[in-house]
Amino acid sequence: MLSTMQDVPLLISRILTHGSTVHGSSRVTTWTGEAEPHRRTFAEVGARSAQLAHALRDGLGVNTDDRVATLMWNNAEHVEAYFAIPSMGAVLHTLNLRLPAEQLAWIVQHAADRVIIVNGSLVPLLAPLLSQLPTVEHIVVSGPGDRGPLAGAGAQVHEYEELIAGRPTAYDWPELDERRAAAMCYTSGTTGEPKGVVYSHRSIYLHSMQVNMTQSMGLTDQDTSLVVVPQFHVNAWGLPHATFMTGVNLLMPDRFLQPAPLAEMIESERPSHAAAVPTIWQGLLGELTARPRNVSSLTQVTIGGAACPPSLMAAFDKLGMRVCHAWGMTETSPLGTVSRPPAHAVGTDEEFAYRLTQGRFPASVEGRLTGPGGERLPWDGESAGELEVRGPWIAGAYYNGPDAEPLRPADKFSEDGWLKTGDVGTISPDGFLTLTDRAKDVIKSGGEWISSVELENALMSHPDVAEAAVVAVPDDKWGERPLATVVLRQGATADFETLRTFLAEEGRIAKWQLPERWTVIESVPKTSVGKFDKKVLRRQYADGQLE
Ligand code: ADP
Repeated sequence: MLSTMQDVPLLISRILTHGSTVHGSSRVTTWTGEAEPHRRTFAEVGARSAQLAHALRDGLGVNTDDRVATLMWNNAEHVEAYFAIPSMGAVLHTLNLRLPAEQLAWIVQHAADRVIIVNGSLVPLLAPLLSQLPTVEHIVVSGPGDRGPLAGAGAQVHEYEELIAGRPTAYDWPELDERRAAAMCYTSGTTGEPKGVVYSHRSIYLHSMQVNMTQSMGLTDQDTSLVVVPQFHVNAWGLPHATFMTGVNLLMPDRFLQPAPLAEMIESERPSHAAAVPTIWQGLLGELTARPRNVSSLTQVTIGGAACPPSLMAAFDKLGMRVCHAWGMTETSPLGTVSRPPAHAVGTDEEFAYRLTQGRFPASVEGRLTGPGGERLPWDGESAGELEVRGPWIAGAYYNGPDAEPLRPADKFSEDGWLKTGDVGTISPDGFLTLTDRAKDVIKSGGEWISSVELENALMSHPDVAEAAVVAVPDDKWGERPLATVVLRQGATADFETLRTFLAEEGRIAKWQLPERWTVIESVPKTSVGKFDKKVLRRQYADGQLE
């Protein structure tokens, strides 16, 4: 028997219409680096999104399913593109502006993007690639920056503001099938070739509702969220969509992502929430230590994308910035788990340990652990295996062209359709996930596993250590052993013996896991989304030799 309920599709246009009317006075503020940031209300964003959709359809001939790419920082125009493109039935493709040029060109061609909306400051990045991008017919440029390098480009060049000016501020958004493609994002390729994930209207809608739940980010229209996580990194973790559902004000840093301007915008715009990967926060912590600022407004910080070092969580707690740790991937939209301690642990000694875990699955995400032989492992907090997940906002395949069968590689999807995350960890009986490592980063020493993350966290809790990354290097006797690469704080004097002793103290690290190879480096190489790039370190020390 079918239900008697209305079958209203879950569409991004509905989020836009709701946000720009019910929460029309909420604001998107974009940092400009000048005396005044740029401010636009949700109502204005709604009107301009309609204008952009008209411009794309009537001006540039964009049709249903056409891919429209963005090569943009986090700003109000990028939010407009987020809503206009999927709402009109086209597919938003966010391009990661930190990828190497050849990878970027490959991705644009793979997705067959017809239009690219680019920020003026990123024109120098795009222009040299254009000769390799035959599918791109139109470039739309927004914001300050020299357009000169685009002269002679094969594609037609338009000014964003001129293109949308005078167009109708309302759009009769089509009633689409909620399962249709809304947006796509390629994995940043930390562990292999980039792979395209295509989100649906439905998956984004449901994911946004989860982001808004109290057990996740739980923000309201009294909040302002500083969205440092790039809009090209898994839809800025869903924040632009989620905030239009609830009227949370957005503070967008544009290209000002360095610690000093971030501290400045927190002090002057007083956001209550912020989201970014740990490396951003380590940088901000250094800045605040060197030049204290009034950051008292910022009481909630969502950290994900890589494990949150305990020292960072403790330092932020001291500053009154309460960290909420979350886990996710491009393939999981990204919200996979969020660490909110259970009621019985709040206010007890256990609370901090709970907050450091990757957290619990929301109701719509199921998780299971699989052992090396494919066996299901119990949630006993001890049995470690690969995490597999499924749910309505979890990818079931990768993009392989608009008319081709999607790809389901056996190392990424189980036979029964679950996503194999490549992350190794345990799940406690009360459902808390603790990731010990990525399968590819685990150090396999004499048949035992050493967690590189555990060693890094222990090292980074030493006051002299600014950053530490640990990778496996070949070893004649043990197969692999850990190599610790350490970035010391300015003026710090700790030597390897001191750090080794520190690791061994208070049972921080078991003796057999202590690294015997050490090197000091200037900074840990980072991936395009700001995570430690261990691929580069592994290559550099592939022979186990230190120079
Ligand atoms: P890429 O795979 O290219 O790095 P993603 O952003 O999709 O791009 O990365 C997802 C991966 O990031 C996860 O599989 C996991 O290894 C890691 N990750 C994300 N959040 C956390 C977290 N809170 N703790 C530990 N690892 C995390």
